[in-house]
Amino acid sequence: MVINTFIDAMTDIDPPLPEKNWQRQLAEAFDNISDLCRYLELDSESLPVSAAAAADFPLRVPRAFAANMEKGNADDPLLRQVLPIDDETATYPGYSADPVGDLAAAHANAIIHKYRGRALMINTGSCAINCRYCFRRNFPYADYRLTGQKLDPALAYLRADTTLSEVILSGGDPLVLSDDKLQHLFEQLNGIGHVRRIRIHSRLPIVLPARVTDALCELLAASPKTVVMVVHCNHANEIAPNVIDACRKLKHHGIVLFNQAVLLKGVNDDAETLIRLHEALFATGIVPYYLHLLDRAKGVGHFDVSETDALVLMDTLRQTLPGYLVPKLVKEVAGAPAKLPVA
Ligand SMILES: *Cc1c(COP(=O)(O)O)cnc(C)c1O
Ligand code: SF4
Repeated sequence: MVINTFIDAMTDIDPPLPEKNWQRQLAEAFDNISDLCRYLELDSESLPVSAAAAADFPLRVPRAFAANMEKGNADDPLLRQVLPIDDETATYPGYSADPVGDLAAAHANAIIHKYRGRALMINTGSCAINCRYCFRRNFPYADYRLTGQKLDPALAYLRADTTLSEVILSGGDPLVLSDDKLQHLFEQLNGIGHVRRIRIHSRLPIVLPARVTDALCELLAASPKTVVMVVHCNHANEIAPNVIDACRKLKHHGIVLFNQAVLLKGVNDDAETLIRLHEALFATGIVPYYLHLLDRAKGVGHFDVSETDALVLMDTLRQTLPGYLVPKLVKEVAGAPAKLPVA
């Protein structure tokens, strides 16, 4: 009896303690529907959760992110981003495994070079969180990510193309790499003369802010290149005090912070939510960058917001927010030379 109570107390883990290191928090992320529902005091039996969807693309949610969800609220906008549900198994016309043409553009060396002057490096296939709407959910990472033997050819590609002024570390999420791996990568990139900026696309400062350690900040600050970080936050509720601390720390180390969000039905598809998001981002030192229309990946159709509705929302944002807090509404079209503005 006593032992059971003790074990219950141990397994009913509350928000992460600040002293737990980020790798430990990553390892302790929720990885199944029932644990997450239990933590949120929700009855999974009464929800349209889908084991088939979870088998296709596993549930993965750091506890730091789950801590920002409202207990007992099945419609929580953060929960909706991560909970596998029946809608994912529905078929929508025009949705495919590779909606943005990344497979066609991926070189065998883990570089995706679609746009002029900047190339994207797939550093890892994994993320700290699995976002249900992600276009990468169907991406065969094992074949493309940067393994040890691909690093040299990838660097050779970046060195050889002197038109490249920016390298984007992407993934997956490049900040799931260890400091040692990042350090090695930065040393190599720092040595490429024509590269002026190193950009990191990461959701970790938002979903696992413990990743923003002093050591990471110092590693980034030591680069002679301009380091830009584009975080990914879709809702003001994601910006908890620990996230604010992490972002301020990055900013104090000279990292330029931008945000990209995805316009998602049932998450942030109303003007008030978007206004609150962009105000909260700016208060955290993050400048709005892109608001993406959903990429039409298989399994994500239920998140779609029409272009017409998106444009109405953008009008309201423009009328309500200072111009510098209005994100650019864009969509990605396979084969296009840039993200396309939606207007
Ligand atoms: C989105 C993207 C970029 C970055 O585009 P920006 O408009 O510079 O933010 C670069 N390469 C690839 C392959 C991309 O998908
Ligand atoms: S790549 Fe970004 S959007 Fe996709 S699952 Fe990872 S963190 Fe989420």
